[in-house]
Amino acid sequence: MREFDFIAIGGGSGGIATMNRASEYGAKTAVIESNLLGGTCVNIGCVPKKIMWYAAEVKDAITKYGPDYGFTSSQTEFDFDTLLKNREAYIERSRNSYDAGFERRGVEVINGHAKFIDNQTVEVNGEQIRSKHILIATGARPVYPDIPGKELGETSDDFFEWTELPKKVAVVGAGYIAVELAGVMKTLGVDVHLFTRQDRPLRSYDETIINVLVEEMKKDGPILHPFSVPKAAEKNEDGTITLHFENDYSDDFDKVIWAVGREANIDSINLEAAGVRVNQAGFIQVDDYQNTSADNIYAVGDATGKTMLTPVAIAAGRRLSERLFNNKPNEKLNYDNIPTVIFSHPPIGTVGLSEVEAIAKHGEENIKTYTSTFGSMYTAVTAHRQTVKMKLVCQGPDEKVVGLHGIGFGVDEMIQGFAVAIKMGATKEDFDNTVAIHPTGAEEFVTMR
Ligand code: FAD
Ligand code: NDP
Repeated sequence: MREFDFIAIGGGSGGIATMNRASEYGAKTAVIESNLLGGTCVNIGCVPKKIMWYAAEVKDAITKYGPDYGFTSSQTEFDFDTLLKNREAYIERSRNSYDAGFERRGVEVINGHAKFIDNQTVEVNGEQIRSKHILIATGARPVYPDIPGKELGETSDDFFEWTELPKKVAVVGAGYIAVELAGVMKTLGVDVHLFTRQDRPLRSYDETIINVLVEEMKKDGPILHPFSVPKAAEKNEDGTITLHFENDYSDDFDKVIWAVGREANIDSINLEAAGVRVNQAGFIQVDDYQNTSADNIYAVGDATGKTMLTPVAIAAGRRLSERLFNNKPNEKLNYDNIPTVIFSHPPIGTVGLSEVEAIAKHGEENIKTYTSTFGSMYTAVTAHRQTVKMKLVCQGPDEKVVGLHGIGFGVDEMIQGFAVAIKMGATKEDFDNTVAIHPTGAEEFVTMR
């Protein structure tokens, strides 16, 4: 029987990072992957999504903003095949780059589906493999709404397999994926309708920022349909899908995308055999140290349902390996103040508490906010002005910055550095004492009054 110190079930962001780090400390490790190495992020998530987002940005630069800068192009169509070919080639290069890292560190890759036999044994392709420690990093998958005809709709997984763009698409959902895919498709020329159950998408984010997104969408984004709960989907003879909503609205679409959340990939790994418990939301229950309820078994990433972002899976996994194999018994990820970007059009960047969350946590009398609204300079000389909105949420007499939010051109690349400041406990005065970089959009974060 093959034996290891640490194995990962799942070769996505979390599994790979955790095994790489453990092997650097001499642990004998393996990554078990049933599909493509790199998992969701590399193959059907962050990476292809960002390429599509860039494609949309390129199109906007050429057709929307270019003419007012004096650049004109007669090209109105674009070659989707070229985009797909280059996107997939880039993804393959990213995947291949893992192999070199594994080889250098001695991480073994085992192709196949793993399931638990007990808390130190898994079975893959009929072979039993033993390991002192086992990581569950099996990720998550899209859920479907529980309505008749749900199978007629597709998900983000399918979107990345499309070889041509449909004419008219319904996106149902209100989170990152709904907003990002709807924005990309709309910019690339699809007639997109975004259906949200409540009044707006991204409800848990700072309302001031999301209001700008909604206004920008109204100008030339996807058509928004608030308060629309899907009721049923049915196929028509011409191949289109009619989508019915509880508010009696219905319409026909070439494609329907469900973007209504994700569930853990854990139903076929025989968790019971290992004694691993699942929480009420259906994700692997872990403590602050990524320990599951079973000895020697840990979980990171989307399978835990905790802040489903690639850098979070990586950071939690690396810290776990530091704890287990580098004699750092207290090492764990602090899940506070995790920065994130939503690649909408325009992009949204956020770190820390929204105003509503800050008031709930610290009391209204202890919270002061600063906002700045201006036209993005990139768009200022064009007929398509884009609003930029920024907000600082400050707490207490020192005005510690507990939330920083922005929407607008370039915001996606502004947030990372500010996240360091917030993590270090920066105050409004620290922001004021930082000299601006002019002319940029980011300077507004340090010049608010
Ligand atoms: P995954 O990356 O999903 O990896 C899990 C792996 O486990 C998979 O490869 C799967 O095949 C394998 N597996 C499952 N069960 C078994 C088994 N029994 N045996 C063997 N292998 C198994 N995050 C960001 O930070 N930024 C973004 O811009 C971003 N964009 C996204 C866009 C989309 C459309 C989606 C869907 C997600 C996006 N995310 C983004 C989220 C990010 O992709 C995930 O948070 C991240 O991939 C989670 O990593 P993971 O290791 O937990 O799981
Ligand atoms: P989310 O959980 O972010 O959003 C799904 C939303 O859909 C819910 O919040 C809910 O919003 C709405 N919804 C739920 N059920 C239904 C239903 N039956 N009918 C209609 N609407 C429904 O899930 P996503 O799948 O968008 O994304 C999953 C995670 O992946 C994200 O949270 C994020 O962590 C990660 N991700 C990160 C990205 C990035 O970093 N840029 C990009 C993409 C994904 P409401 O309650 O308002 O109706």
